[in-house]
Amino acid sequence: MQLSRLQFRTKQAAGKIRRFIRANIYTDENEKLLARREGECTRCGACCKILFKCPFLIEQRSPEAGKAIYTCGIYGQHFNQCRIYPLVPEDLEEIEEPCGYTFR
Ligand code: SF4
Repeated sequence: MQLSRLQFRTKQAAGKIRRFIRANIYTDENEKLLARREGECTRCGACCKILFKCPFLIEQRSPEAGKAIYTCGIYGQHFNQCRIYPLVPEDLEEIEEPCGYTFR
């Protein structure tokens, strides 16, 4: 079923709150959940644009790659919720490009 834009944005907002709680308050299961993740980050930047574009996201054009390359302007001090993305398969439903991670 296709979500309306409003439903999609609402899902993104709920996900941001859920991840904030999971990353900063209710962290007990995170290690176990992250162990179910496979793949790697392709630096597509999609998770940095959930609901709004992160102000710390740096976009550079790569003529060789023919696409944008994304980096985090505060990498190393970035937020806990960014460090654990994606934590559960539902997180992948909030982005508009395919993530390099999948879940088993
Ligand atoms: S959406 Fe996935 S592949 Fe893209 S930057 Fe985020 S974690 Fe990396």
